[in-house]
Amino acid sequence: MLASFFFLSWFSRGVKHYKRHWLKYWGRLVLFGVVLVLCLGGLRGVYGATSLPSLQVHPLPPTLREWTDQENAGDYFAQVEETPVGYLVWSEFPVTVYLDRREGEDDLWVKAVRKAIAAWNVYLPLVEVEQPEDADIIWVRSRPPLRATVNRETRELDIAGARNAETSYKLYLTETKPPQLSHRFKILLSPHQSYHHTLGTARHELGHALGIWGHSDNPQDVLYPSQVSDPPPISPRDLNTLKKVYQQPTKLGWEMP
Ligand SMILES: [Zn+2]
Repeated sequence: MLASFFFLSWFSRGVKHYKRHWLKYWGRLVLFGVVLVLCLGGLRGVYGATSLPSLQVHPLPPTLREWTDQENAGDYFAQVEETPVGYLVWSEFPVTVYLDRREGEDDLWVKAVRKAIAAWNVYLPLVEVEQPEDADIIWVRSRPPLRATVNRETRELDIAGARNAETSYKLYLTETKPPQLSHRFKILLSPHQSYHHTLGTARHELGHALGIWGHSDNPQDVLYPSQVSDPPPISPRDLNTLKKVYQQPTKLGWEMP
């Protein structure tokens, strides 16, 4: 810190007199550049920065290959977001899921989540595992926390309405040799809804976790963002969209360079 202060004051002195000592000024500028590159190099070492795999397309999962696109149904692929690591597709099947079963097997929440898993399982194989650390997707039996954001202009707090679910993902490196870039999802799902609506919400969130990272503008689709009185089953538009997502490039599921 102190060293950089002295360096900067010495450098700015050079700047002040740059007309008379222009050679000296350029010399200092080059030296400053070299020091900057060395510092950034050092930081890279500290944080273990490394380059990520390049974007590549995985083979289409057989279950999705079997789905014949219903072209007249259309899709909402244009609304699916590409993340910094590309599309959020899975490349190893079955995808493992863990659910919180502390309320027992007859719990309506457990039944609804299992029904949602069974519905998507037709199109992408899913299997329930006993330990959360073995799971690609973890279901948590809880209502998402309230989130507040500060409006920078008015300094007022905006509190989002209570939500029934929240789906998020994290990236990690597998322990294989060489490691692969992978992702893991966490779905918080409220236990305070009716069975019917828990099932609708679970189907929606699982759609996100399987790669549909966006929303449909059609209330007949599972990925419609608002709750409807009669949550729809997985639609041809949902499946056309899912299949398109799995034909896109991703950095996930590929070996680190
Ligand atoms: Zn959503």
